[in-house]
Amino acid sequence: MIPIAQPVLGPEEAEAASAVIRSGWLTQGPEVEAFEREFAEAVGAPHACAVSNCTTALHLALLALGVGPGDEVITVSHTFIATANAVRQCGAVPVFVDIEAEGYNIDPAAIEGAITPRSRAILCVHQMGMPCDLAAILAVARAHGLPVIEDAACAIGSEIRLDGTWRRIGAPAGDIACFSFHPRKVLTTGDGGMLTTRDPGLDARFRLWRQHGMSVPDRLRHAARRVIFEDYPVAGFNYRMTDIQAAVGRAQLRRLPGIVAARRALAATYAEALAPLGVAPPAEPDWARSNWQSYCVRLDQTLDPSLDQRAVMQRMLDLGVATRRGIMCVHLEAAYADQPRRWPLPRSEAARDQGIILPLFPGMTAETQARVVEALGQALGEHPSEPPEPIVRLRYEGPKTAEIVFRGETLPRGGVAEMP
Ligand SMILES: *Cc1c(COP(=O)(O)O)cnc(C)c1O
Repeated sequence: MIPIAQPVLGPEEAEAASAVIRSGWLTQGPEVEAFEREFAEAVGAPHACAVSNCTTALHLALLALGVGPGDEVITVSHTFIATANAVRQCGAVPVFVDIEAEGYNIDPAAIEGAITPRSRAILCVHQMGMPCDLAAILAVARAHGLPVIEDAACAIGSEIRLDGTWRRIGAPAGDIACFSFHPRKVLTTGDGGMLTTRDPGLDARFRLWRQHGMSVPDRLRHAARRVIFEDYPVAGFNYRMTDIQAAVGRAQLRRLPGIVAARRALAATYAEALAPLGVAPPAEPDWARSNWQSYCVRLDQTLDPSLDQRAVMQRMLDLGVATRRGIMCVHLEAAYADQPRRWPLPRSEAARDQGIILPLFPGMTAETQARVVEALGQALGEHPSEPPEPIVRLRYEGPKTAEIVFRGETLPRGGVAEMP
């Protein structure tokens, strides 16, 4: 079975975790501090604060910007439910706008119409690692004096060109960016999250809140030669990252350039091989470089409205290839049924119901990737309205000589992913 994803983990991560255990200092210690410093450097952010996961990062980001009960936060429904849940956790209401006609990110043109006197922030998502149109989003935000939080859960290593300069997601362009280190993301610490910002005041609030509102960090108290009594000016949370996680994160961070290069090579190969199949490969604007955290193709139902997503996915599963449907729509889930619908979200719903996420991970060989393409070709080919012969054929003559043949023509092999 070809899995949908697979984290890149090796002896370096195992050794890093084990060294922390031998050291005896397991949380809020030197590894967390070093991971924060190295992460900030990797994305070009002045401040980075580690937390337990991206949902708690989003919660702190919203709280730090003053989002509270009765407030509205403009975001997308077409996202993992955690984006909206974090807004709810503040007692605020997520106001869902639709995504762009092309792609899977917030439609900047839809934001203005969603702004009311209760709007407190814009929470945009770099969905599946593809940078959203920050230039347009920031222009609307500035015109209305609204702060911008970037849900960058999937976007470590992605880049965006703003004002003519390429920069890493998380630099950050908005006020705060939030990352996830869940195993389904590009770097993993098992679970984990990070907030980056330019504003030292926001960073100080994150640090206070993540550790029960305690005024003195553990590192400081530990190093003090005079007795320190801490105090608790606010009721905080326990959103700590452990040193075991941070040590693994540091080892992962060293792999980042290799992981992103491998993922981009695999995506380029997919784009080439899939374009003729009647599925639309995802587009990358010329101002964006995705890390391709997920690779979502689209069944072209404008040509063939009867193409059934579930049937194609089942056929691929029968052929040994795991897939996932397009990103969920939060507004269609029972948890959000009580929320008033202000306007329809047809593009979000179509993306969920026509999208198929294909396996993509750095350990994938050219043969494995070719098998995915072949399985998709067969799954589509079996459809009654498709031509009877398989559209794509795999020529396999040993581990290094797999070829993808489309309608009798051999496609260029593209990048073969190497384990970094
Ligand atoms: C995964 C994900 C989250 C949640 O991240 P956790 O670390 O699991 O809390 C939030 N937003 C988006 C867009 C995600 O993909």
